[in-house]
Amino acid sequence: MFDKVDRAHYAPSSAYEDSPQPIGHSATISAPHMHATAVESLLPYILPSEARPAPRVLDIGSGSGYLTHVMAELTGERGTVVGVEHITPLRDLGASNMAKSAEGRALLASGQARFRVGDGRKGWVEPGQEGDKWDAIHVGASATDVHPELLLQLKAPGRMFIPVDDDEGGWSQHVWCVDKDERGEVTKKKLFGVRYVPLTDAPKY
Ligand code: SAH
Repeated sequence: MFDKVDRAHYAPSSAYEDSPQPIGHSATISAPHMHATAVESLLPYILPSEARPAPRVLDIGSGSGYLTHVMAELTGERGTVVGVEHITPLRDLGASNMAKSAEGRALLASGQARFRVGDGRKGWVEPGQEGDKWDAIHVGASATDVHPELLLQLKAPGRMFIPVDDDEGGWSQHVWCVDKDERGEVTKKKLFGVRYVPLTDAPKY
């Protein structure tokens, strides 16, 4: 699936190196191995199945839009992936990067992939789909906590991949895999140490 989406459409420099690259506005496109790890972890909740024919996926801090695109390819024709950015030019960047390929343009035109502006710490409620929760939530920037709004918006069953700061300074972070089972019970598993840019307030222009 990763071969289907050309990183050169998303990374302005060193597109095929296994490292994060700056995309402006203090944001980076994550390294390929981080994208791969995130997708691998969320995969059972992203792929369509009998139990989940139309997966709904939220990509918070969509940045370059690369992961939003990969996940939109995976959710299938009935799926929806919404990328949320708090910086309008980055929301636009994700959409314009995706529009560089015919496949990306088709995903945007059908609404299978959408880019929105909002504060991702509050999650996202898609207009017209107010009652619908998310099968999978990917958070692309570090959180101070597993924000309660995000947990509320996670379906039962559902899975969230979220980097969380271990301390106030945010120098040490770990990715957590947060699972909600069909009865709504939540379990959190610490996966590995990472360095993500933090989820912040939107800059004032
Ligand atoms: N998944 C992206 C990662 C981009 S870096 C990629 O690989 O390209 C993290 C992104 O989180 C930045 O683009 C930043 O603008 C965004 N971000 C930071 N705080 C946010 C918030 N409160 N709400 C939404 N997006 C946020």
